[in-house]
Amino acid sequence: MMRMRQWGIKSKILTLAVFPAATVTLMLALYFSITQTQDLQQSLTDRGYAIVRQLGPASEYGIFSGNPNALQPLVAAVMNEPDVRSVVVRNAANKVLLKAGPEVRPVLNIDAQSNSLISAASDDRTSHIFQIPIRQTELALDDLLADTPTIGPDPASQYHATGRILGWVTVELSFDRTQARQQQAWITTGLIALIVLVLSALLAMRMGRDISGPILLLKDAVNKLEHGDLDVQVNTGAGGEMLSLEAGVNAMARSLKASRENLHERVNQATAGLRDALKIGEERNLALDVARRDAESASKAKSAFLANMSHEIRTPLNGILGFLTLLLKTSLDATQREFTQKIEVSTRTLMTLLNDILDFSKLEVAKLSVTQVEFDLREVLDECISIGAPEAHDKGIDLALIVDADVPIRLKGAADRIAQVVKNLVSNAVKFTTDGEVIVHAALSTQSIDHATLRISVTDTGIGISQQDRARLFQPFTQLDAGMNRRYGGTGLGLAIAKSLVEVMGGTISVESQPAQGSCFAVTFPLGLSALTATDQVRLAVLGGRRALVVSPNPHLTRSLRQMLIHWDMDVESNDDTLRAIAELGAAAAIQRPYEVVFIDQALVDADVERITTEARVLPVSAIPAIFLLERTAVRWRDGETAPPEFDACLAIPPRSAVVADLLCRRFAGTLDRRARQRFGMVAHSTQQNTMAALRLLLADDNAINRQFLATWLKQIGAVVDEVTDGAQAIDACRQATYDLILMDLHMPNVDGFEAAAQIRANRYNPASTPIVAITADATDAAQERLRASEINDVLVKPITEQELLRIIAQWCPRYAPARAGAAAGTAAPAAIDEPIVDADL
Ligand code: ADP
Repeated sequence: MMRMRQWGIKSKILTLAVFPAATVTLMLALYFSITQTQDLQQSLTDRGYAIVRQLGPASEYGIFSGNPNALQPLVAAVMNEPDVRSVVVRNAANKVLLKAGPEVRPVLNIDAQSNSLISAASDDRTSHIFQIPIRQTELALDDLLADTPTIGPDPASQYHATGRILGWVTVELSFDRTQARQQQAWITTGLIALIVLVLSALLAMRMGRDISGPILLLKDAVNKLEHGDLDVQVNTGAGGEMLSLEAGVNAMARSLKASRENLHERVNQATAGLRDALKIGEERNLALDVARRDAESASKAKSAFLANMSHEIRTPLNGILGFLTLLLKTSLDATQREFTQKIEVSTRTLMTLLNDILDFSKLEVAKLSVTQVEFDLREVLDECISIGAPEAHDKGIDLALIVDADVPIRLKGAADRIAQVVKNLVSNAVKFTTDGEVIVHAALSTQSIDHATLRISVTDTGIGISQQDRARLFQPFTQLDAGMNRRYGGTGLGLAIAKSLVEVMGGTISVESQPAQGSCFAVTFPLGLSALTATDQVRLAVLGGRRALVVSPNPHLTRSLRQMLIHWDMDVESNDDTLRAIAELGAAAAIQRPYEVVFIDQALVDADVERITTEARVLPVSAIPAIFLLERTAVRWRDGETAPPEFDACLAIPPRSAVVADLLCRRFAGTLDRRARQRFGMVAHSTQQNTMAALRLLLADDNAINRQFLATWLKQIGAVVDEVTDGAQAIDACRQATYDLILMDLHMPNVDGFEAAAQIRANRYNPASTPIVAITADATDAAQERLRASEINDVLVKPITEQELLRIIAQWCPRYAPARAGAAAGTAAPAAIDEPIVDADL
């Protein structure tokens, strides 16, 4: 069936035309042939009966008389009949009286002496045999008078059963002629059927050609159309539906051609338009290129301008700050001191603004670089929170730094940028909090062999930030609370800069906040891990396993100290109750595991503090601990004052980790001199004068004001300072004297700092070990790059603080370091290394 569906139209038409014709013809032929065969057979049988029925009675006399000659004419007449093959006449004794023709073919199951008329086909089916008994006639008169003998279905019934049988007549009719006629009939019908079939096939083919020809033509045309030959037109010459189809295809071809031409036209138009647009685009690109170059050179000019401005503004600011610091050390009456402090605060604010704007403009042109250094995160964070400590104290806010004990000691990364970000967050937190607390918490997020990811969060209980404000928090120049900001100042750039810096470092910044409840800013960034320094190793060796007790009612302070001490592997207990603390001290001494150091929070009532100190002093000598007081004080922000006699030292809250480590190391090394009890504030102070006596420094700066306050600071710490005003003089001075350190301004007349440093090194005017430290207000990346390539060892960027200056001197002049170590805040001054705390006996 499937196959038939796939036939071509020609085959289908042929099938349609030939199949019914063939079927009808064959059926008719079959019908006629069968009918004729039956007729012929019937007629032969009828003739057979007729012959024997006539011959039987006619032979009666001949048989009766026993005279064959009387039978002869009868038999001869019968033999002349067509199809009669042979005739046999027998008498009652079954003896053949007369026989004509060949031997009768044998027939099974025929009773040769039957008393009725019978017939049967010969065994070989080639003839039909008829046999009739001949009876003695007792014919009824009506029978003789009848015109036509009655031939019923049983011819024997015509005879009276009572007549005596005289003999039998047998006639054999041959089938040969009948069969020949039958064959002829079959052949004739077959021929007629064949002719009908051939004629109908021819007709169908002709019709098929007439139908399929136009269709094939149309198919070819559609094929051509499909392959894009739209000029095709079909002419099949057919009529009727084909004509409509042909007209449809031709119309379709014409309309396709028209729409192709139309499309062509439109494509051409569009291409032309595009070409024009491209041309305009190219022209615009050129214009943009020119504009970009202009913008770049404008940006370069802006950067240069910013660098110059920052240099120009920083230099006088530096002078102002330097002299303010000096002025604050002179004897001033209360009003003068207050005014001077206010001027100092304003100047520092101005400096912060200047730095913010400079940083932001650098971030905008993606020029801000981060320098990777090795650092101790605890010291960096100590410095960051020292910024907010005075304000926090004034407001009565708790400011705590908690660095988890598992945060690695030495890290590698952009320490100054981390400090910048955290300082901004801390100062904002303190700024926008009126009571409660500000907690800075550093935790380790993940750590691998050489990398660690840190999370530093700054949580406050301040005014908080609403959800819609949070969305624009990190955009530049955003200040949410105008009133609050007017009160506190700020540029609205801090968080934008912090975000960019954190992203430059490969980290993220996020904020969670509830209005009126507080905010939590968190930065997460990856850092490298680096090896412990000698100082770290000494600290760990000396402090590991030592026992310490922290007595404080403040959970943040307790946690902060605990984590700090645990990270040096110390054994720490804490207590918020005086009585229990005292009992603990006694119990520890009793089991020979005394506490070696006790930190007491000043927040305890004075009587309690006194009780602890008194009780501690009456313990067995070997169990008496060192006692450090944790102070909350507004006035003592700087190191240097003497602590009250009942304490071994006083530490301002929040305590600095470097100071605590140093104190503890000295305590366990036995070098903590109770007579020189010190107070340690938030910032290092510099009143020790006699330690620098042997240092000789060269100070080259063309700016008299800078020179003056730098020289004053240096002289205050006992250094001998040679001052020169340009590079040429600096070279001259180096030729004549050997210095411990050369401080060299970069922008000087005649010979600038770079050139002077190069000549001093090239001509070996001073030992190669003499460090040259540049002084510059130019904080641009280009300047940093040039510095790295020069002979200069380090750089002090204006505005220079006394603390910075001392840090540089401690770093480059090892002779100076031991005495300053405890006081140089925020530095890992390796005091322990030069002092006997590394005594192997210990
Ligand atoms: P600014 O220098 O003005 O402080 P920042 O970018 O650091 O600029 O801060 C932008 C604004 O975000 C601030 O003006 C303040 O409105 C809001 N803000 C920042 N930190 C806090 C905080 N901890 N609590 C409430 N508001 C804050």
